[in-house]
Amino acid sequence: MSFRASGLHHATAIAGRPQGNIEFYVRLLGLRLVKRTVNFDDPQTYHFYFGDQLGRPGSVVTFFPWLGAGPAVRGAGEATALALRVPPGALDAWRARLDEHGVSHATTERFGAEVVAFTDPDGTPLELVEGAGGEPETWPGAPLPASQAVQGLHAATLLAPELDATAALLERLGLARAAEERDEAGTHAGRRRVRFADGDGLTHLDLLEAPERAPGRWGTGSIHHVALRAADDDALAAARELLAELELNPTKAKDRHYFRSVYFQEPGGAVLEIATDGPGFTVDEPADELGLGFRLPPWLEGERDFLRGRLPVTASPEYADRFSRR
Ligand code: ZN
Repeated sequence: MSFRASGLHHATAIAGRPQGNIEFYVRLLGLRLVKRTVNFDDPQTYHFYFGDQLGRPGSVVTFFPWLGAGPAVRGAGEATALALRVPPGALDAWRARLDEHGVSHATTERFGAEVVAFTDPDGTPLELVEGAGGEPETWPGAPLPASQAVQGLHAATLLAPELDATAALLERLGLARAAEERDEAGTHAGRRRVRFADGDGLTHLDLLEAPERAPGRWGTGSIHHVALRAADDDALAAARELLAELELNPTKAKDRHYFRSVYFQEPGGAVLEIATDGPGFTVDEPADELGLGFRLPPWLEGERDFLRGRLPVTASPEYADRFSRR
């Protein structure tokens, strides 16, 4: 069986206070809150999706705000950074914007490109990298012009204690080695970049060699998983079959309402997901009202009042004047 992922689909991290998460990603980073729903596997927890105007695959960062979670312990077998793509020439404005908001940041160089690294209020490691491509666009009410706005995901970095085994698996999923260098911080033996061979040309994965790193532990600020794109349900089924052949024990295909997903652990221990491009976030809200309502999949509608009562009230800056409790 063969399968070729076409890019990064989304990445999911663990947040703390729900409203603080929304404020940072919408007001400061300028992403659009495209869905307020619950974690389908733990419905008494929110699940927020942020992305471009429509939350297209490749633009999406999502969060489970787990109020009781302890702090993350970084380690092997997880993604340790998410890089977001900004338009060429935008990094100076971003450094000024982060300064203005009291977010400390550091600039390094990686494969000849500048990387601005910082963390969100919960400690999630983020990076901004300039990159051409894609349609520069923004959404009505966005706090930033298209010339500065985050355009989508650029990369995720996996801390890889089994770098060759992880790379070999990713090769089976359609990624190919693109470049290699010593890590800029000197704390890891090397960094290997792998690109989606038949992919969107915009996203990639970096593998950081970590031969003796202890495993990480999920907590506030952890990147929970990274999802790769499958075009449709047939491609997802092929991916699942391939992962089963490779004895990686993939989950059954799960209905995530906005896409269908299969989860598995790569040989280094990180949780990866394969997710379909469709049906997307307009399946239960019109494009101009994404993120306005509190949305539940049909199988949880019967618990709406109970869940509303269990979850703290949140509002998006975008909808300050017409926040909905629907
Ligand atoms: Zn996911």
